[in-house]
Amino acid sequence: MHVGRFLQRSARRYPRNPLWLTSDRTISYDEGATRVRRLSRSLLSLCKQGDRVALLTSNRFEGLEAHLAIIGAGMIAVPMNPRLHASEHEFILGHSGTVAIIFSANFSDHLAEIRSRLPNVRSWVVINGGHDGSLPYEQLVETAAGDMIEPIIQPEDSAWLFYTSGTTGRPKGAIQTHRVLITMIEQFLLAVAPNTVHTDVMLHAAPICHGSGSCLFPHVAVAAGNAFLKRFEPELFFDAVARFRVTATFLAPTMINRLTASEAARRFDTSSLKNVIYGGAPMHLGVLRRALDTFGPVFAQIYGQGESPFTIASLSTEEHVAALKEDRLNHLSSVGRVVPAVDVRILDDDDKPLPRGQFGEICVRGDLVMPGYWDDPGASANTLKEGWLHTGDVGYLDEEDYLFITDRKKDMIISGGANIYPREVEEVIANHTAVAEVAVIGVPDEEWGESVKAFVVLRAGKTAEADEIIEFCKDHIASYKKPKFVEFVADLPKNPTGKILKRELRTLKL
Ligand code: AMP
Repeated sequence: MHVGRFLQRSARRYPRNPLWLTSDRTISYDEGATRVRRLSRSLLSLCKQGDRVALLTSNRFEGLEAHLAIIGAGMIAVPMNPRLHASEHEFILGHSGTVAIIFSANFSDHLAEIRSRLPNVRSWVVINGGHDGSLPYEQLVETAAGDMIEPIIQPEDSAWLFYTSGTTGRPKGAIQTHRVLITMIEQFLLAVAPNTVHTDVMLHAAPICHGSGSCLFPHVAVAAGNAFLKRFEPELFFDAVARFRVTATFLAPTMINRLTASEAARRFDTSSLKNVIYGGAPMHLGVLRRALDTFGPVFAQIYGQGESPFTIASLSTEEHVAALKEDRLNHLSSVGRVVPAVDVRILDDDDKPLPRGQFGEICVRGDLVMPGYWDDPGASANTLKEGWLHTGDVGYLDEEDYLFITDRKKDMIISGGANIYPREVEEVIANHTAVAEVAVIGVPDEEWGESVKAFVVLRAGKTAEADEIIEFCKDHIASYKKPKFVEFVADLPKNPTGKILKRELRTLKL
C-alpha cells in the first residue's frame, strides 16, 4: 500500500470529476492521473526511487501534480516554502541531498543565486519557462508514456521531507513515510471532515508546501476537486469560493480573522462552504465566534505538526456547534479531542506521565508519528524518546479528552501561521558588528497573532538604528522572520547561570 494508489483509484471510479480547477483550465481525474503517470515515468528516467526531488512553486496545480508524481514514482518530495531566503533553500537542497528540483519560473532569478553552489542538484525543471537551460515541465509530461507504473513501495518508505525551522537555527526534515500519510488521510476523513465527498472542491488558499498541501491527499482519496489561490486576499478568496463553489479550505487563524473583518464577506455567495479547517497557530475565541456568526457552522480545527502531520487532535464542525449550544465555550479554546491514530501523554521534565488536568509537554505516539528527522540523529533522539514524539508544545488533557495548548516549550513564535524560531533570528542579529547581545520574543499582534520583537544590547561605543537591524535580517533570512520591533536596552535580564530570562522580557516590556 502506498499513497500513489489513491489518485489512480479515484481516476478509475470518477474519471470525469475535476481534479484541478484553474481560471483557464479544468483537468479531469482521468487526464490528471495520466499526466501524473507520465511525469512519474519522466522523473524515473532522470532519477531513481528513493531520490529526493524538491519543489519550489507558487500555489498552482503543477506544484501538487508534481508532488503526486514524485511520491507515486517512489521518490521523496521535498516541498520548500517559497518565503524562505535563498540561503535557506540552499541549505535544504544540500542537506536533503536533492538530485532534482521542479520550480515555477518566477523563482528562476532567486534560484540563479545558489544554482552554481548545488552540484548535487542535477536536474532543474521549470514550470512555464525554460530560457535558463532548465527542462520545460510540460515536456516531461508530454514525452513519456502514460501507462501504469507499479514501483514497489513499502509503507515505511519515505514520501515527504517536511522541513521545519530548527530550534538550533537549522531547518530539520521531518520524514513523512507512506504509512504516516495514509494514516493522515484516514484521520482527516474520520475526525476532521468526515463529510468530505467526491463532489467537493478544496481551495488551496494557504501555501501548498504546508498544511494546505496535506489536505490534497484526503481530497484526492475521495476524488474531489482542487482549486488554487495565487495570493491570499479576502476579495480573491471570496471570488474563488463563489466561482468554483468551494466546499473546503485550510486557513491559518489570522487568515480567518482577515476574512471575517472584510466587507467582501457579505458581497459574495459563500453558501457552498462546509469545511473551513483552521490550525497551525492558536485561534482566539473572539475571532472564532465572529467567524461562526459570519459564515455559520463550517469550522473545524486541527492541531498537528510536521513531525505528526495535520491531526494529533481535531475539533469537528459538530463539536463547534455543540460547544455553542451547550454553552461549553471552553471547548472552543481547546484544540479538540485526540484522534484515534495516536496516544497522547502529558509528560513532565523527567518524562514522567502527568495526571489529567496538569500542565506538561504534549507527547504523541502512533502511526501518524514520523520515524525521525532526515540525516539528523541528534535531533531525532532528542525529539523521539521511547517512541514518544516530544512536540515542544505545553498543555493539558481534560477528563473528556479535550487537549489544551497553553505554551510552547521551544519559545517558537507563530506569526500569520508561519513558525519563527527566535534562536534563528538571534543568530543573525548577533552577527551585526554593533550588537553585543540580543534576545528575540513574540509579542501579541492584532493582525498576525504574534510578531517578532528583538531586544538588543549594543557594543560599547557603537551605534545602530532599529531599521538597520531589520534590514540586516532581511539580507540573511526570510523577510517574514525579521523583527517588527527592535528595542535597545542596557542589559538583558538573566538568571544566575547567565541564561536570558525571556519570561521577564515578556512581562516587563509589554
Ligand atoms: P508545523 O510543524 O509548521 O505545522 O507547526 C506545528 C506547531 O504549530 C505545533 O507544534 C503548535 O505549536 C502549533 N499549532 C499547530 N496547530 C495548532 C492549533 N490548532 N492551535 C495552537 N497551536 C497550533
